[in-house]
Amino acid sequence: MKADLHLHSTASDGTLTPGELVRAAQGAGMTLMAITDHDSVGGVPEAEEVAESCGMQLIPGVELSCGAGREVHVLGYGVDIRHEGLLAFCARRRQERNDRALRMVSQLQEAGCSISFDVVHEMARGVIGRPHVARALVEAGYASSVQDAFTKYLVPGKCGYVPKPEVRVTDGIRLIHEAGGLAVLAHPMQLKMSDTALISVMEEWVSSGLDGVEIYHPSTGNQHVALLQRIAAENRLLITSGSDFHGPGVKDVSIGQEWPRWQNGEEDAGRLLDRLCRMHEKL
Ligand code: AMP
Ligand code: ZN
Ligand code: FE
Ligand code: FE
Repeated sequence: MKADLHLHSTASDGTLTPGELVRAAQGAGMTLMAITDHDSVGGVPEAEEVAESCGMQLIPGVELSCGAGREVHVLGYGVDIRHEGLLAFCARRRQERNDRALRMVSQLQEAGCSISFDVVHEMARGVIGRPHVARALVEAGYASSVQDAFTKYLVPGKCGYVPKPEVRVTDGIRLIHEAGGLAVLAHPMQLKMSDTALISVMEEWVSSGLDGVEIYHPSTGNQHVALLQRIAAENRLLITSGSDFHGPGVKDVSIGQEWPRWQNGEEDAGRLLDRLCRMHEKL
């Protein structure tokens, strides 16, 4: 087995279509993958079709943007992509992201960047994210790279930044459960909390039903692994891993890059698959 359980497609802010993503994962030697677009399951049907045709094991997934002020991303694995509540949630978030992109563009225009909402909208086939605005800024010559556009314009405190409306982490977890999935905290080190704050906030989320934690992610330094392993063990959490790949050349990330670091990857991924199987048998 080789697994990468955190991958984005054009259904959100990735640059490969869902089908291309599955082929790329296969090309990178993966045998198990999850498609986890931001606030969207729109890429799952195409990914499933291609996965079936090429013998890739695919977990349908989603990455919900939760939290206020500080963003907290919750991965949902094994969700029913036809679940009405989940679809309604994604539709609402898509509209909110659209409204937010309009505001980002108008703030950027006020700051002297002449980019148009239409260009941003066209770049995003599904869910609009800051990377689409960043790409429009690069194309119009206001930044040298997507990373540069983020740093100059799109991070908190900069003129193009607009936060998303808040979704509580506990509501995100509940929605994933209602849709038949398992809820996993994405990239915990991106929360940039002290160890004690992280331990306590995770205990709170575990009491709200959090099922797992993504330990091996590009944002997790080797020095953080022991702490996260301890939190997972003490709270009986599933352990997952993924590259958070958004496309070739987007950030310095490749599909499957976390697999060599994922100690007990086969066991951890097997445990996730077993839990999903048992849950779905019960339905
Ligand atoms: P959004 O959901 O619209 O706020 O966009 C979040 C996405 O933007 C993340 O999933 C990353 O793909 C990307 N992103 C966030 N921060 C940065 C950054 N500092 N540099 C480059 N990409 C970033
Ligand atoms: Zn993204
Ligand atoms: Fe994320
Ligand atoms: Fe992600």
